[in-house]
Amino acid sequence: MKIIADGMLGKITRWLRLAGEDVININDYPISPEEEDEVLLNIAEEQSRILITRDVNLYRRAVKKDIESILLEETDDIAKQLLKISESVDGDVEIDLNNSRCPVCNGKLKAKGKSFVSGKVPKNVLEKNDKFWRCEDCGKIYWQGSHWKKMAETLEKYEDLRG
Ligand SMILES: [Zn+2]
Repeated sequence: MKIIADGMLGKITRWLRLAGEDVININDYPISPEEEDEVLLNIAEEQSRILITRDVNLYRRAVKKDIESILLEETDDIAKQLLKISESVDGDVEIDLNNSRCPVCNGKLKAKGKSFVSGKVPKNVLEKNDKFWRCEDCGKIYWQGSHWKKMAETLEKYEDLRG
């Protein structure tokens, strides 16, 4: 899926990237707030990206221009938002780090061994983990740390909702 998200959707942007989706967040562009809607619509149109937004006016403008668009509720419930997106595109959102993108920059993640990350992550992290991933663009290193448990809980909730 190729997606473009409005500036209010930072959290879901990071989630969708982890799920391997190619997501542009308008906050990554150096533009003024007045230009934001125009640029969002242009990029969505030019790059055939699905627009996700919380802004009902922007959503309506997109629909008028025949741009595929998903209107998300004002909620911080990630499981609910993931469900809405997967239902809208009739697909599943699955998180597999071997197929993920960097939550920070949208670069592709690549699996790396212990020896590669030695010296690049804290010692206790190296001891406790066998699997690591590195962003090919910004170089950030990921592992299934304590945050992973929380993510897994959210994913379980999403799968329950999806039924
Ligand atoms: Zn990155």
